[in-house]
Amino acid sequence: MIKVMIFIDGSWLYRSTPALGARFGKPEFRIDYGKLPRVLAARVAEATGLGPKDVDVVRTTLFASKPVNYNPRDEELVAKQMSFFNMLAEDYHYETELYDINFRGSRVKPESSREEPFRPTEKCVDVALASAMLYYAAIPNAYDIALAVVGDRDYIPALRTIRRLGRRVAIATVEENCAREYKDPVDRLGVRDFDTILLGDLLDELELVYEPQWQTCESELHEGDPLVLDSYRPRKGEKFFCDACRRKFREQKDAALEEAGLLDNAPAAIVDEQPKPGNGNGCHTGAVKHLVEGKAYGFIAGENGHDYFFHATDLESPLVWNDMRVGMRLDFEVKKEPTVDRAGAAGNIRIHGSL
Ligand SMILES: [Zn+2]
Repeated sequence: MIKVMIFIDGSWLYRSTPALGARFGKPEFRIDYGKLPRVLAARVAEATGLGPKDVDVVRTTLFASKPVNYNPRDEELVAKQMSFFNMLAEDYHYETELYDINFRGSRVKPESSREEPFRPTEKCVDVALASAMLYYAAIPNAYDIALAVVGDRDYIPALRTIRRLGRRVAIATVEENCAREYKDPVDRLGVRDFDTILLGDLLDELELVYEPQWQTCESELHEGDPLVLDSYRPRKGEKFFCDACRRKFREQKDAALEEAGLLDNAPAAIVDEQPKPGNGNGCHTGAVKHLVEGKAYGFIAGENGHDYFFHATDLESPLVWNDMRVGMRLDFEVKKEPTVDRAGAAGNIRIHGSL
């Protein structure tokens, strides 16, 4: 039995997916991360001359960054990203290593293609991936083959060192978005032990196929028959809301943010580089200061002296809008840091002291 550990540069793979889509002739192409480890392991089995049953994927780790301190308009987008990372861990048993990326109040994704996107530098992801590969290479019997799903040239020294430690290296990459050395058929630098696996050759096997299913919308605001055909799959423990209801929530929330004057891009200069810690793990405590009935939003006065905006959708189950009372003590996480003259935004709100 050969042990394979898979190390995925998630940020790079996400950026490279449109190139795969273009190759596949489907711009909306998405990778099925549930299948990815198995499909790659089968290629490694083939390359080693063993059968698929003789290759054991002992661990798959995805390294990526997660936005912090972003514009509140992107909350849904970021929630989707976080839900994706949770899905990798819960449904497919990936390990995920996520590093904060500070957007300084800017949009994660610009509203129109004419807008210049704010591109904060990604920190730690490549060094974390290289460190993990080397760490396990130095542990006896942790793995026989490191399968690196990467494109960046920066990994070359680590890959070569792993081979010097007596472990083997396989590389899977995207032809359109990788360092020349990974495609070099002669492998002059000695970065790998097998032919490079090109994800572009495996698109049929890797495509994520959504099949719409009949599901019941659980929103109280739903209009008409709650049984709808939708390809959205709620996560474990998550309620299913139909497309129309998801859109309605978004509009409501944007309107509330607008009214609270929190939608402008905060100028980068007045937002701290490092988010201020609350009690050490990003969790803050405060009390409800003001509630806007009928609009389902309000403000929390944080114990740190700052105010935080929140909307009914920021409450964590079982807490609901109707439970909210002025003065009620709450724990919350900061979605957007306050500035000198503006409230911040709170999320994951729960009753103080509850888990
Ligand atoms: Zn609905």
